[in-house]
Amino acid sequence: MARVENGASKPYRALSNGDFNELLDSVEAFLFDCDGVIWKGDRLIDGVPRTLEMLRSKGKKIVFVTNNSMKSRKQYASKFRKLGLEVSEEEIFSSSFAAAMYLKLNSFPREKKVYVIGEEGILEELKLAGFTCFGGPEDSNKSIQLKSDFMVKHDENVGAVVVGIDPHINYYKLHYGTLCIRENPGCLFIATNCDAVGHMTDTQEWPGAGCMVGAICGSTQKEPVVVGKPSTFMMDFLVERFQIDTMKMCMVGDRLDTDILFGQNAGCNTLLVLSGVTTLPMLEDSLNTIHPDYYTSKVSDILNFLGD
Ligand SMILES: [Mg+2]
Repeated sequence: MARVENGASKPYRALSNGDFNELLDSVEAFLFDCDGVIWKGDRLIDGVPRTLEMLRSKGKKIVFVTNNSMKSRKQYASKFRKLGLEVSEEEIFSSSFAAAMYLKLNSFPREKKVYVIGEEGILEELKLAGFTCFGGPEDSNKSIQLKSDFMVKHDENVGAVVVGIDPHINYYKLHYGTLCIRENPGCLFIATNCDAVGHMTDTQEWPGAGCMVGAICGSTQKEPVVVGKPSTFMMDFLVERFQIDTMKMCMVGDRLDTDILFGQNAGCNTLLVLSGVTTLPMLEDSLNTIHPDYYTSKVSDILNFLGD
């Protein structure tokens, strides 16, 4: 079912026996997004354990690359365990980790602080990397009063504001982050990711980090540095850690504008699964310009291709 939409677009097709066996021959590492690929909320997607087991038995490296910043790598490893999957922290690349690594690689001064709009995962990774940070859950119950003698004093030592998904976002957090970015000279504005929506539960799609990041863009009139997908920032770590050429990697994800674009930007093979936010009509929409190499309904489809 190969097709070419227009001159600028890539051809793409439903994954076939032949395609998968070719991938199995040429790919050394499979990179998986999590939400909508491995699980939906706290529910494992059908056939995932057997699929991962099969790939491991074929000697393939398995890596999880997630934009969801709510958890640290350690917390993700625990979530995998609870779902019955044995995954080590070294196999997990989360955008919370990427935010900490961005500051580390850019020699963020140790005497400066980081303000966080987001969840515990970001704070945990920042602390692990040796940074002083605050905000996040501890500011979730703070409120402001719009009266003439009220003001919020912000810390002038804040040199970076990291924004990720925050289900407890409030006006205090938005105000504090805005003050730091607008008033502290050189203060960085870092977004873990800009996903529009995600499966925070298996019942429906919820507003993603793009919602919180968008609010700070609006109040500061600044654009963030994005460290999650589709930015290839995390790819540098993957390549260095696993010493595998990106051409020998296959990115498997459910989102076109993050997962598939990330894979393409890095030069990986790409496989879209329709078990998350993207439907076949969305992929086939003539306005969509991001096309994976292949698509299939869910990751466990590949089990059917084995040995053929
Ligand atoms: Mg996803």
